[in-house]
Amino acid sequence: MTERTRILILGGTGEAAALAMRLGRIMTFEVVISLAGRTKLPAALPGEVRRGGFGGPEGLARYLTERHIALVIDATHPFAAVISRNAAEACRAAGVPRAALVRPPWRQQPEDRWTTVPDMDAAAALLPDLGTRVFLTSGRQGIEAFAPLEQIWFLVRLIEPPDGPLPLANHAVIYGRGPFTVDLELALLEQHEIGVLVSKNSGGAATHAKLEAARRRGLPVVMIERPPPPDGELVQSVDDAMAWIEAHGAGAE
Ligand code: NAP
Repeated sequence: MTERTRILILGGTGEAAALAMRLGRIMTFEVVISLAGRTKLPAALPGEVRRGGFGGPEGLARYLTERHIALVIDATHPFAAVISRNAAEACRAAGVPRAALVRPPWRQQPEDRWTTVPDMDAAAALLPDLGTRVFLTSGRQGIEAFAPLEQIWFLVRLIEPPDGPLPLANHAVIYGRGPFTVDLELALLEQHEIGVLVSKNSGGAATHAKLEAARRRGLPVVMIERPPPPDGELVQSVDDAMAWIEAHGAGAE
């Protein structure tokens, strides 16, 4: 029997799941998908799923060698900069080819009212000038930046309940994983009388509808820019990742 090519996908995104699904249908591949373990109930995934950190770049390099990983696709979220940096370093050290699957960022359209900021603190600093009812879609991590804004009411959307109370004086929490529709987002904006939207520039289709809804309502959007992409080869889609894998000598179906 020919040996199968073992591919590690660093996951936590829809693209990682879609790529695992595509590779899982090809007999010559063996897929391991790695999750940080932040989400208690992740979406269903094919193949072997491992959870939790590797112990920095050294731990990841050791893992790559011990598990005979042939290729790595870093399909983590564009804001997960630490694991992407670690993956670049670990793959260099272990001599394993790696590509980062980085979905394109969203681009501002002519009718949009975006203010682009570098981080959560800058987003928080802007809000008092923009409104008093804010739809906060940037996730649990870093939400502390908004804690001093006691005069603002936040509608916070999370994937699942947080471990403890959120550090916000006035807020409500709703849960959802996406994809979301424009109608749903318009209904939320209306029901909660939202005046401002805060978003990371995650890119992708699953959570784009909120931007379309804000555009239709003429609402300001505070858009948090991405950290720089990781070094090395970048691909933008699952199709491009498949092509990269094939170009690296794997993938005879
Ligand atoms: P991060 O700051 O870049 O990474 C922090 C640490 O978490 C890493 O050093 C690593 O621990 C561990 N880690 C992260 N991703 C991992 C993975 N896929 N497999 C194994 N260990 C991982 O990451 P983050 O921003 O907290 O994001 C955590 C996960 O959530 C990522 O997988 C990402 O794709 C997903 N996610 C993040 C966001 C976001 O906005 N940041 C949004 C949606 C999904 P060790 O150093 O011990 O290896």
